[in-house]
Amino acid sequence: MNKDKWIMNNYIKEIDFSKYSSIHIGPKAEVLVINEIGEYEDYTILGRANNVLISNTHPKFAVLGEAFDYIKLENNLLYVGCATKSGKLLSYAKKNDIADLEFLGKLPGNLGGLVKMNAGLKQWEIFNYIHSIKTKDGYIKKEDIEYSYRQTKIDTIVYEVVFNVKKGFSKEQALLFKQMRDNQPQMPSAGSCFKNPKGDFAGRLIEEVGLKGYKKGDMGFSEVHSNFLVNYGSGCYDDAIHLINLAKQRIQEQFHIKLHEEIVIY
Ligand SMILES: Cc1cc2nc3c(=O)[nH]c(=O)nc-3n(C[C@H](O)[C@H](O)[C@H](O)COP(=O)(O)OP(=O)(O)OC[C@H]3O[C@@H](n4cnc5c(N)ncnc54)[C@H](O)[C@@H]3O)c2cc1C
Repeated sequence: MNKDKWIMNNYIKEIDFSKYSSIHIGPKAEVLVINEIGEYEDYTILGRANNVLISNTHPKFAVLGEAFDYIKLENNLLYVGCATKSGKLLSYAKKNDIADLEFLGKLPGNLGGLVKMNAGLKQWEIFNYIHSIKTKDGYIKKEDIEYSYRQTKIDTIVYEVVFNVKKGFSKEQALLFKQMRDNQPQMPSAGSCFKNPKGDFAGRLIEEVGLKGYKKGDMGFSEVHSNFLVNYGSGCYDDAIHLINLAKQRIQEQFHIKLHEEIVIY
């Protein structure tokens, strides 16, 4: 790779994760902003930090820059750069009468994070509508990617997502998705803390073991939705980890169920 070009297009910026991350936890850090497809094995890629909990001993982070914030429609396929926000893609779908992306309303993140996490709501998840993804090795078809509920086997940076295009944006469906969000806590969080175990709900189990509304310091399992670990002000990483471990331990002891975190811990 031409080193001068690399330096010209990529750059370093400081991110204060206590403001940038949705859970409002984390230190300030120098982050690489990537505007060129390349080899970045030394870095951990982040999107909008809506699903992460960041410690003071985190790895070196990178984010995608302006070069990957685009939406292009060509030959009935939609090419979306992975720095594009979910809300921007939703607005585009509405304006251009494209179906199936209505579930992106109030599902915060960049396309890269959404794809890596196979984000979604109930049976609507992003992999249902994907045609392929682009990595440093070129395009990879959906059929060749392993994915399931809230996870994928993607272990590299995704630069672009390609969607199949179907006509017909549904305003009714978009409104329904918005209403489905009404029960979510308004406090800073990283979304659902744990994945739902098969045939059950993490929120129900947290409530059963007496942790709904339970706090440690300024962190707690929300009164509104137990599976949301929320920050009541100056919540910190250590208190979040304490609560995560406590819930896992109690649920293991009482129900013999091993909970897995949905949030990604660094
Ligand atoms: C209030 C709230 C509500 C939420 N509701 C839902 C919901 O209903 N359903 C749901 O599924 N999620 C939900 N979430 C979680 C979150 O919206 C999703 O996980 C989203 O996909 C995170 O995107 P992000 O850009 O913030 O990713 P980050 O949090 O920055 O990263 C998440 C993971 O993706 C990886 N990643 C990021 N970018 C890339 C890339 N370009 N290439 C490869 N890997 C990458 C990161 O390494 C990390 O492992 C919610 C979060 C909040 C705060």
